[in-house]
Order: sequence, then C-alpha cells, then structure tokens
Amino acid sequence: MTKYVFVTGGVVSGLGKGITASSIALLLKARGYKVFMQKFDPYFNVDPGTMNPIQHGEVFVTYDGCETDLDLGHYERFIDEELNYSSNITNGKIYKSVIEKERHGDYLGATVQLVPHITNEIKNKIYEAATSSNADIVITEIGGTVGDIEAETFIESLRQVQYELGKENTFFVHCTLVPYIFGSDELKTKPTQNSVKDLRNKGIQPNALVCRVPFSTNNHIKEKLSLFCSIPIENIIDSVDVNNIYQIPINYYKQHFDEIILKQFNLPLKKSNLKDWENLITIVDNLKDELEIALVGKYVELHDAYISVVEALKHAGYKINKKIKINWVNSEDLEKESANLKTIFKNSKGILVPGGFGGRGIEGKIKAINYARVNKIPFLGICLGMQLAVIEFARNVCKLEDANSTEFNPLCQNPLIDLMANQKAIINMGGTLRLGNYECSLVKNTLAYQNYKQDTILERHRHRYEFNNNYKDILEKNGLIISGINNKANLVEIIELIDHPHFIACQFHPEFKSRPTKPHPLFLSFVTAADKLK
Ligand code: GLN
Repeated sequence: MTKYVFVTGGVVSGLGKGITASSIALLLKARGYKVFMQKFDPYFNVDPGTMNPIQHGEVFVTYDGCETDLDLGHYERFIDEELNYSSNITNGKIYKSVIEKERHGDYLGATVQLVPHITNEIKNKIYEAATSSNADIVITEIGGTVGDIEAETFIESLRQVQYELGKENTFFVHCTLVPYIFGSDELKTKPTQNSVKDLRNKGIQPNALVCRVPFSTNNHIKEKLSLFCSIPIENIIDSVDVNNIYQIPINYYKQHFDEIILKQFNLPLKKSNLKDWENLITIVDNLKDELEIALVGKYVELHDAYISVVEALKHAGYKINKKIKINWVNSEDLEKESANLKTIFKNSKGILVPGGFGGRGIEGKIKAINYARVNKIPFLGICLGMQLAVIEFARNVCKLEDANSTEFNPLCQNPLIDLMANQKAIINMGGTLRLGNYECSLVKNTLAYQNYKQDTILERHRHRYEFNNNYKDILEKNGLIISGINNKANLVEIIELIDHPHFIACQFHPEFKSRPTKPHPLFLSFVTAADKLK
C-alpha cells in the first residue's frame, strides 16, 4: 500500500516548502524506497504556461509535455526521477475537469458541490499519482499557506485522505517560520503555534514541524512548540538558513527526519545511501575560483524566471570545480545606442541566450549573439536563443535582408523562423505549444555529437515557432552546421558553427534534464569552453 507525505506551509510563503518536500523525497529514496512527487497550486490557471515569468518564475516542462510550477524542477533535480502530468495539479485543472464532467452528465442529476465533488476530484489526483507511478511513497506539497481561502479544498481533501487511509499511511509535515526578534534576542514560537491551530481547526494534526530559523533552536523552544502543538520533540526539525540548498537534505538526515517518517509508516529502516549527495556538498562547499557567464534575457529582474538554466550552469561548474557567477544582462539595455557591449561582457567568459516569448528585447539578444560570434566568445543558445542565432547569421553572414521570425514580424521578407502549417489554425494560447520530449538525431563529427556521444537523444520542448527549412541551403552554404534533426517532422533541433571555440544552439530546453550530480552535456561543454577562454 502506498504511503503519503503531505507538506503544508504556514505563517509566510517562500519558506522553501518545495525544497523541504524534495529533501524528504531524496532521503526516502536514499533508503531504497520508490518515491513520486506532486504539487497542488491553488490558482485558477489550468497550468502556469500562460503566466508571466516575472510574476510566476520559470515554467518547468515535464517529459510528457506538462507545463508546471518551478518547484517541479527542484523535485526532479533532488530525486533524479522524471515527473509527469500527475505531478502538478491546479485549482484550474480540478474545476475544469469537474465542470466538464457535469456538462457530460456524469454526476447523474446531483447538485455539484465543493464537498464532495471538488474534494473527490482532488483525492483522485492524489491516488492517481500513486497508481500511475507505482511509488512506495508519494510526497505532495500544497502551494500557498494554510488559511488561504483558495487552498481550503486542498486541505479538506487531505483530511479526508487521512480519514480514509489511517494515520499509519499518512504523514503531515508543516513548514513554518520561527522568527528572531532583535533586541529581546529571542526566537518566537507564537506564529507557529497559531498556524498549527489553524491546521487543527481544519481537522489536521501535523506529525512534524519544519521550522525555518536563522540558527539552530534550543531545547527550550522545541519543548514549547512540542507542548503547544502536540508534536513529539524529536519531530520538530530545524531548517537553518543555508547558502547552498543541496545542504538541506543532509541537515534533515542529521535530525533523523527520514527515520521519523518511516517509523510512523511501519516501514523497515533500510540502509541509507547518500554518498553521491555528500560528495556533491563537499565539492560545492570547496569551490573557490569563479567563472562568469553572461545570461542575456528580458526577465532578468526575477532570477527565478531562469532557475533551471542557472542551476544547470552551476551543475556544470561543479564538474569543473568552478563557482558560476552570473552576469545578468537585460537584453533591452543592449538595444540602447549608448550600450557598450565590450564593457557589459568584459568579464564574461561565455554568453547564454535562453528561451523567451514576444518581441521585446529581441534586437538586444541578437546584438549579444553577434558579439559572441564575432569575438569568438563561447555561446549557448536555448530555444529562442537558437532562433535568434539563426536570424543573426542570416542577417549578417548570408546578408538576407529583413531576416526575422514571424513571431515578431509576421510580414518580414525573410521568415527564417516560422509557424509550421499545422500550427497556423491554433487559436488557444494554453497548452498548444510543441511540448515535452521529442527525438533528435545527431550528425556525426559535430560538436553536438561530441558532447552527447549518442546517435539519438530525447529532449524537452516548449515553443511554437520552428526553423524554416526553405533557408537550410543558403545557411549551410554560408557555413552554418545543422547538427541535430527531428527526422519524423523534419525539424531542425541543433545548429552550430565551426571556426569558433564553442557556438551551439538548440531548439529544446536542455536545462530541464540537468542534475546536480549529472550535468547536462551541452552545459558542460559550454562551461568547459568558457573556462578555456583567455
Ligand atoms: N517564442 C519562441 C517560440 O514560441 C521561443 C520559445 C522559447 O524560447 N521557449 O517558438
């Protein structure tokens, strides 16, 4: 029988609930259990695909093409398992499905209500995650904080799950803040007490508390929390602020968090294997030399908009013993006449242009790509970054006037990047991109092949526009190498240049498959080339 860990949050948002959920999953996996993870988000968008990255951060894409919350990226990076459609459920998804069932007549004349119809739908998603993944333990994080109106039905559903499955099959972790008050020199437990009270009002008694604290709490604090919240003292876990998030699972391990959970589940305490993770931490803690990489985007004011790209760069850095320092470059700044690219990229040993949507800042990114190409600075283009690299090459090397993407200029003379015929009729914005895994065949004797050392690869996609094959010949004649192709649909997936230390760009998003202990080959080759730049 599958066991369920539920992770809720209280007091404030942004406590690192996602990292807590991931760390628990990692520890349980290290004990030999098959784990699966899931996040419930209380908003009414069906998925975050249509949300502005400045508000919501990155959209993480799973292999089966689900556009999800960025926490899913943490989950995959921590547990090194591919998640799927069952992993990110929003209120939007739940309500959409209930209303569709109602229209279909599935409720047989009943009045459709929050309880039981919405709650049943939520519970089904929890149980479905267990059956589809065949996991021993499913870890479900509830977005937002307890007490939010929008999250009420999720919390009520968890109460019902516990009632249905019993205490030995469910474990509730509540993440809270224990603030330090300067002056009185004290850690304060009251907000946590109140937040647990809130949860209890909803019929849930948490089994463990994860307390975000600036420094370790003492026994006195724990005793107080234990008494007021009816939680055994050993189940009160400190989550001390850290510089490196990958340290957190180890901090929990030292407090026996995994043992506490397994004990409640009556599951055997198999030997834990955290060797790779411990090695990783040693590497990260001992990084000395920095390597600066410029990241040119238009959402740079919110670093979370590029979180997987940044993490993938860091992972590659770990492999070559370099601490990656990001030089955040706003592409719109590059468009100003006064912009001095030489100064802006002065210390950057590599230039990365990530994905993006819409015309704002495009010309600035093209300028950055031109700068990298001409000055032979290692370059990695991702998705939009590849499309713009093609446009830059067409304009400046092939001398194709007005080369552009029809996304930015539908009437341009040379549409190097265009919609495929079958996409032109699509009206809906949500979920209609080319999403998830697609195969790509690699051409021998190319940088791409040298990196992957494989004939075919699978990479995740999230885009609408494609390389226009009408321009293949002219680009190739001028020296552009097409090194990756999706044969089924005849789509260009990777381009590169010779006569350059490292110039490669891909239509897919390699950052989603990078892991802290297994850097992605494209990021590794990019960072390695950057490190060699004089
Ligand atoms: N806007 C481009 C497209 O839709 C690129 C998308 C991306 O970079 N993810 O094709």
